[in-house]
Amino acid sequence: MGIKVVKFGGSSLADAEQFRKVAEIVKADPNRRYVVASAPGKRYSDDVKVTDMLYRCYELARNREDISEYYRQIAERYNSIIRELGLNFDITGELEYIKNGIQHHTGRDFAASRGEYLNSLILAKYLGFSFIDAESVVCFRENGTYDGEKTDALMREELKNHPYAVIPGFYGVMPNGTIKTFSRGGSDITGSIVAAAAEAELYENWTDVSGFLMADPRVVKNPRPIRTVTYRELRELSYMGATVLHEEAIFPVRNAGIPINIRNTNEPDAPGTMIVSTSSSYDADTVITGIAGKKGLSVITIEKDMMNAEIGFGRRVLDVLEDHNISFEHLPSGVDTMSVVVSTASLDNQRERVIASINKSVRPDSIVCEDGLALIAVVGRGMVKAKGTAARVCYAISNADVNIRMIDQGSSELNIIVGVEEHDIEKALNAIYSEFVKG
Ligand code: ASP
Repeated sequence: MGIKVVKFGGSSLADAEQFRKVAEIVKADPNRRYVVASAPGKRYSDDVKVTDMLYRCYELARNREDISEYYRQIAERYNSIIRELGLNFDITGELEYIKNGIQHHTGRDFAASRGEYLNSLILAKYLGFSFIDAESVVCFRENGTYDGEKTDALMREELKNHPYAVIPGFYGVMPNGTIKTFSRGGSDITGSIVAAAAEAELYENWTDVSGFLMADPRVVKNPRPIRTVTYRELRELSYMGATVLHEEAIFPVRNAGIPINIRNTNEPDAPGTMIVSTSSSYDADTVITGIAGKKGLSVITIEKDMMNAEIGFGRRVLDVLEDHNISFEHLPSGVDTMSVVVSTASLDNQRERVIASINKSVRPDSIVCEDGLALIAVVGRGMVKAKGTAARVCYAISNADVNIRMIDQGSSELNIIVGVEEHDIEKALNAIYSEFVKG
């Protein structure tokens, strides 16, 4: 059995009780050799994450306010974990050093990163593992982008020195030595980086849900969990807003061919969701892997006779969008029409200018911009083999008395995208789910 890299999210390390569950999980399998830790998350629904508390502390210090009282609450989060675990571990010096740093404006990222730093120190002590500071192994370039090559080389070397170690997630170091964080939720990325460098057999990402669900549980009642999903399917679903894992976390492990297993710290026996590169098998029962929806879209429809004969037409339209820093989500087209789906927010304060520029650039017969569109992605690697999937999607939606504004089946036959009016999205999602998942 090869190495397993395990990452625990904030809710899995929110208090002493959660630490105990984490230790039990880690110790249950000696292959779980490298542990990546988040900062303490919420203990109950209206609790505040330590990362958010640190950001707040930084803001207070910036406004030259006294942080003592607020910082005391952060210190207490850690001290109570140490106390309740019965650890003989004094972090007073660390806490003072960090407070000083925040008071002297060492940087917003420095402040935020200390959440994972302290939690990892405590976890390493509790597990009896080495502590590897992310600052010495995760590197960013001068321009702030993540430096994968340098990191991989340093990480590989460092891991060789430690058979068992805890590494804080979320942050790394700039060439000038200052701390820089990934975007929020970035510990997932650190876990993936460590897994790739350790040439792990598996990257286990432990969180507070038992994997991905086939649909958003706020919309569809009790959706089934997904047992296996490919990286490409997941990209299609996550683009639509199904987030359990940081979007960028899949790249290091995907390139190395390492599967990710999403697991639940509070339900360690549940198998969770396996994310794999390819899978020839699929659930013949459901055909589809998952459904996701996204609201807040606008469609710009451009018509021009003989458009299809005009070389460069599409490029000129997209050039205008690029000039206005707008990325397009979809591009359904006809012979003489081209529709561009963009997020409504991206048109804010520049809608008229964008339309005028397209008018000027391609001289269309008409151009209309409509808001209130929602897209639904029906995703499944099984679709290639199962006949009639698109028909079933359309049938289900029309039976629910919902009008389809557009439909687009990706050439990879991995997904079908359906556009509906925003106010119909819940109805449409439920109709599709019930069509494919019986009982
Ligand atoms: N603690 C950081 C956050 O709250 C990073 C992470 O948990 O992944 O975003």
